[in-house]
Amino acid sequence: MTSTTEPRDTLLDTDILPVQCPRCSEAQNTLVGTTDPFALDAKIGCMVCGYTFGPGEYRELLGKRQAAFAGLQVDLG
Ligand SMILES: [Zn+2]
Repeated sequence: MTSTTEPRDTLLDTDILPVQCPRCSEAQNTLVGTTDPFALDAKIGCMVCGYTFGPGEYRELLGKRQAAFAGLQVDLG
């Protein structure tokens, strides 16, 4: 078996799911020090205002964001 591409690594390296900044409400994140936004030492920040997300904050906000997407159909009215 030859390993071809590694979808997970590629995905994480190029495209982290942005979450909304609690300070400025923009969803433009920076990822420093790792390519894995779920790594314990990942430093996720806001590209706009410089806010730094806490270790568990990204996961929490990501969960809320996904919940918001799931609820878009009812929110549109
Ligand atoms: Zn911000």
